Amino acid sequence: MNPMGMWRGLAAALVIGFSGAMATAADQPASGVKAASAASATTPAGSATAPAAKVVVPPRAAPPVVTNPHQMRNLFGTPAKPRFELRDIDWPAKTGEASLCLWKDDAIAAASMGIDDNCAYNLPWWMDMSKKYGLRPTWWLVTGEIGKRGNSGTWEAWQKVLAAGCDVQSHTVNHLSTKSPTWTGNMDDEYCNSQKAINENVPGARCLTLAYPGGQGQEANDPAIAARYYIAARGGVPFINQANAIDYMQVRAGSAFTVDGAKFPDQNLVTAFDKSPKNKCWRGWWVGFFHWIKTDDAAVTANCEKRFAYIQGKVKSSELWLGLFREVAQYGQERDTANLEVKSVAADKIVLNLTDDMDDTLFDFPLTVKVRLDPAWKSAKAMQGAKETGCKIVEHEGAKFALLQIVPDRGEVVLVPGQGK
Ligand SMILES: [Zn+2]
Repeated sequence: MNPMGMWRGLAAALVIGFSGAMATAADQPASGVKAASAASATTPAGSATAPAAKVVVPPRAAPPVVTNPHQMRNLFGTPAKPRFELRDIDWPAKTGEASLCLWKDDAIAAASMGIDDNCAYNLPWWMDMSKKYGLRPTWWLVTGEIGKRGNSGTWEAWQKVLAAGCDVQSHTVNHLSTKSPTWTGNMDDEYCNSQKAINENVPGARCLTLAYPGGQGQEANDPAIAARYYIAARGGVPFINQANAIDYMQVRAGSAFTVDGAKFPDQNLVTAFDKSPKNKCWRGWWVGFFHWIKTDDAAVTANCEKRFAYIQGKVKSSELWLGLFREVAQYGQERDTANLEVKSVAADKIVLNLTDDMDDTLFDFPLTVKVRLDPAWKSAKAMQGAKETGCKIVEHEGAKFALLQIVPDRGEVVLVPGQGK
């Protein structure tokens, strides 16, 4: 039996059976049904929005061909086994020893927030919330009606969103609406033309990621086609992504930002901090998204703000990296393919080299590298070529460590004593 055919059939059946989010067949096929029921059970009582239907079906186009294994556009497919062993925060034991941090700034876990379907009338409220709680949401834009329909927003409005430190990424041209005048019937156009529109109309934007539309027509989504244009894509399986087994073209994401209280622990952000040995979501990447918010309903906004305050608290305590979806997708794939080498250790100089297997034009987000310093060093600074890299000193059990921000494949890094930036 052709397993792809079987899973496609099952996926189609599940679309009819469940109105909530569902698992993708490629996302741990054996648990597909369980995940689907889990998702349909998630409409949390206090949720601000009902979970939208989000389906990603198995790839049907041919998977991307890797022409250069050291310059990949994305890590395609569900990893057959974890890519590395998940460990606690690492503290290298010897001077000059270096360790690649799981997440930026050595955070315990990562989180990304988003808003789907433009919902431009909510923008003033979101901008207030982003300022108040230090949120950096990504707006997943359906680009076909921008400037034509009020709630789709205008390009000027999306430019302001980017300028405020938030992000705009793709949610296709037509949300798979076949009746739309800009529908061409070609999934390449749906995925690629929205990316072009964002990059052309929002100067400075880097549209590198996609959120698959749910609802009507969602069976047309195809990760293999999306992989031609994007470094990562967001699906709707509402669980935390295991840090060592992320499926980058089908990143799991939950509706309504479930911080706690969801029926299944793997949906709750709090689970990413739960160190119990059986918890595979410990140190994972939690991705949440909202749709329309009734900002004139005090109970709804209070409920949202409670979650935002929790997220802000975790960011302030340095336990959580609240990264843009695009940034975490870059970091994760650079890290998953990284090779860190300590070239030399002397009393007054440590030389490191960091490489990865991702496309250097798309993957330029710095990875955090922790280096144990000689106790005699009072401070440190690091140069990568002519450029000074970020360098922050942290102490642990009486020893000093430098947290360096290094972009892979940009040359050796020289760490010396001295006042860094
Ligand atoms: Zn949508």
